[in-house]
Amino acid sequence: RVLVGTKVDESHANWVIAYNMLTGIRVAVSRTNAKLDRALTDADFDVKQKSTFDIAGNELVPSAKYDFKFKDYAPWVFRHLRALFRLDPADYLMSLTGKYILSELGSPGKSGSFFYFSRDYKYIIKTIHHAEHKFLRKILKDYYQHVKDNPNTLLSQFYGLHRVKMPYGRKIHFVVMNNLFPPHRDIHQTFDLKGSTIGRDYREDDLETNPRATLKDLNWLRRKRHLELGIQKKRLFLAQLLKDVRLLQRLQIMDYSLLIGIHDLEKGNEENLRGKTLRVFNPGGNNTSDDFDPHSVLMRTPSKLENQRKARELRQMIQSEKPVPMGETSNMMPEELEEGQSRPGFIFNQDDGGFRATHEDNTPGEEIYYLGVIDCLTHYGIIKKIEHFWKGLSSDRSQISALPPHEYGERFINFISNVTMSQEEAFRAAQERDAR
Ligand code: ATP
Ligand code: CA
Ligand code: CA
Repeated sequence: RVLVGTKVDESHANWVIAYNMLTGIRVAVSRTNAKLDRALTDADFDVKQKSTFDIAGNELVPSAKYDFKFKDYAPWVFRHLRALFRLDPADYLMSLTGKYILSELGSPGKSGSFFYFSRDYKYIIKTIHHAEHKFLRKILKDYYQHVKDNPNTLLSQFYGLHRVKMPYGRKIHFVVMNNLFPPHRDIHQTFDLKGSTIGRDYREDDLETNPRATLKDLNWLRRKRHLELGIQKKRLFLAQLLKDVRLLQRLQIMDYSLLIGIHDLEKGNEENLRGKTLRVFNPGGNNTSDDFDPHSVLMRTPSKLENQRKARELRQMIQSEKPVPMGETSNMMPEELEEGQSRPGFIFNQDDGGFRATHEDNTPGEEIYYLGVIDCLTHYGIIKKIEHFWKGLSSDRSQISALPPHEYGERFINFISNVTMSQEEAFRAAQERDAR
């Protein structure tokens, strides 16, 4: 399969789906955010709000280019989640507004999910399976409580859960979440780590054609890589990771990974220059399902145009409860993007939007990490149990990726803890090993 990240415009096969997703989000989000804030109730977690879009429109729903149905799940819960993650409502809408909106990330992974980036690269829309959708609704209260108790959680940040259905089409469920990687920094290397070694290898030969491919556990080990955090940052990071994993274990979740994007400060930004075409890396090569990498996209960083005016307008609309107009082309970028991506107050985004390596003595290191726990909606259900049994016949049972949630979490934490240490610590550990 060929992997090509493409701008979704009117000529794109999935243009209508993408358009409907964004139209639905825009209407649903502005509707909820137009109301006065209030505390959540238990009932908010079960709400489904249905809208029917058509060319004519009505008092509740503005007219749209295409006919489709849209469902917004637990809108108040997600409004509160967005607030906890400190998203500005106008900024959120603006990122998900406009015409060429999204770049689609070509061929899907094993799971069959599609990924779309908002045009400012801040948000990812991921289509999810019905089972994942049902599961997220089921755990939403626990997730919400966890985010409340852990503002610095490393878990995927979910901003919305929706469904679109086109006439005669199937139902498409999707979530909106944070893109862990920043729009303004080159990511020189990416790792997706599970703590499993079986099948967790990206073919090193293929790196020549795909220098920015997402590498895995075995590639990490082979490079003797470390997440170079000195004592203080290491403690912060592992403490949060442990709390997050405890939640995942309790909710019977497995198959998640720690996604790490590494920006090498010595290399700096070579290609990621505003206004230039940003080639994150070239497709062309064969893409086996396991090598799927949404960041292998060709995308254009849009130029700055009337941002402030647009943001002002949107804020006014939200405040005045007017529906945000639909279907309008907009090339505006949120202002914030121009200023880098630091999310003030969040520990793991404190250094230029990421978490900078430190030495043993706490002086800054040469890398910035952009990291988080992704793909955390796989419930250890029937399918995984079968896979576990089946693979367990032929491989070392503790190394296969489909472990029961408790063991999965322990292995995950162990792996990550073992590779988190400053350069100095890693150097000494290697010396000690050699001495033995
Ligand atoms: P599978 O179940 O086969 O692992 P999937 O379709 O569930 O695949 P994910 O594991 O969620 O997909 O993501 C696949 C890849 O997409 C990751 O390895 C990573 O490169 C990228 N990705 C996923 N989520 C994010 C995110 N929030 N920010 C940045 N990149 C992401
Ligand atoms: Ca995954
Ligand atoms: Ca998955």
